Amino acid sequence: MSPLFKQFYKQSLSQRLKALEKAEYLDPDQAGKLQSGELGLTHEAGDHMIENYIGTYTLPMGLALHFLLDGKNYLVPMAIEEPSVIAAASNGAKMVAQSGGFHTVKENRLMIGQVVIAGSTKPSQDRGKILSHQQDLIDLANASYPSIGKRGGGARGIQVKQFDSDLGQDMGSYLAVYLTVDCQEAMGANIINTMLEALAPEIDRLTSGQVLISILSNLATESLVSLSCQVEPKFLAKGDMTGEAVRDQIIQAYQYACLDPYRAATHNKGIMNGVDGLVLASGNDWRAIEAGAHAYASITGHYRPLSKWEKTQDGQLNGTITLPLPIATVGGAIASHPGAQVSQQILGQPTARELARLIATVGLAQNLSALRALVTTGIQEGHMSLQARSLAMSAGARGDKIQKLADRLIDQDQMNLATARALLKSMEED
Ligand code: NDP
Repeated sequence: MSPLFKQFYKQSLSQRLKALEKAEYLDPDQAGKLQSGELGLTHEAGDHMIENYIGTYTLPMGLALHFLLDGKNYLVPMAIEEPSVIAAASNGAKMVAQSGGFHTVKENRLMIGQVVIAGSTKPSQDRGKILSHQQDLIDLANASYPSIGKRGGGARGIQVKQFDSDLGQDMGSYLAVYLTVDCQEAMGANIINTMLEALAPEIDRLTSGQVLISILSNLATESLVSLSCQVEPKFLAKGDMTGEAVRDQIIQAYQYACLDPYRAATHNKGIMNGVDGLVLASGNDWRAIEAGAHAYASITGHYRPLSKWEKTQDGQLNGTITLPLPIATVGGAIASHPGAQVSQQILGQPTARELARLIATVGLAQNLSALRALVTTGIQEGHMSLQARSLAMSAGARGDKIQKLADRLIDQDQMNLATARALLKSMEED
């Protein structure tokens, strides 16, 4: 990492932006707009983006550091309101970078859509008919969205599954026609939905039932990204605990999360703290990623952690993560959102595959850092100073009073809003 980013957290906003400009992550115009706070959506853009627009709602954007993925260094922009996430992601990434970095294990990148037929009275026959017209249906899908074909993508395959409801009312079988599509750099919701709606009348004609629903699936199991990392125990040591003890307790924490969905949900929330920050900063649809991640976590019928921690034969901590990541670098609001454009620039204009890999990396780094904190000092220690600043602002402190009030709050038995207000009042009376 460039020395310009050393002790980045101690630099002022101007110094940070100058470092980004000097290292050519930002051009002077973007750096100037970030400095003056002008890098937001205009009313005009917002009004065209959604319905009944009344203004913008902003989030802080920060940089997570020390990311080394497949031999390449990244500065990771994250849009997030929760204190300590960026610090934790950077901390996890640093431990991994010192041990050799993150590595892609495998990835694929096709999107899935489904046309659902209800009330099929001859499901086996209907299935056979659809499969015998497979190529015609793929051609029809491609003809409905020719531009994606010209870009090298397009519809790739068809599968049919039968479902029978056990809800008591016999309304016939359901058949789902799954269409896989290569959407190139796009997430593909609109591309796929257009294709599916073009297929629906033909599928309806072929079967004994009626088309009920035609839409993409957010359970993107054809867009899975798997990554791994290894951490040398010496980098995990904390306080009185040896690195080996921390390693073993991280593994136990993971094993416990496999047993108890109440813990697995929080384990995965930590992963999504990292994932969502970059998904949002890059202008991607975080609802789609959230829906896919949690559905994938339950794909075995039991809600499980999205990451796995184990010990290698030579005693290292080995972490892996697999996430469905239908990530885009074009489409949706990406081109029209200035924050997304800055993020793409800081990331070096990655491809959708590269961005998806990096998003999984941030999730795994965040998870490592959270688990290490949990099994050593507990999660609150790292949170407290950042939480104190947030409380200070909520109490009304501004300028240099924010840090002064936060420092005093840390020493209080009860760190809450009432205490923050009382302390601020006494500071103002001093
Ligand atoms: P768009 O509708 O914006 O379509 C992407 C477009 O980008 C393509 O049609 C293509 O246009 C253009 N493009 C330019 N370069 C490329 C390239 N290299 N590769 C691919 N496309 C390229 O986006 P999506 O279809 O991806 O849909 C995403 C949006 O849909 C998001 O805003 C999402 O929130 C929303 N959505 C999500 C749903 C869900 O998740 N369930 C449901 C419905 C909508 P062309 O080839 O014509 O020039």
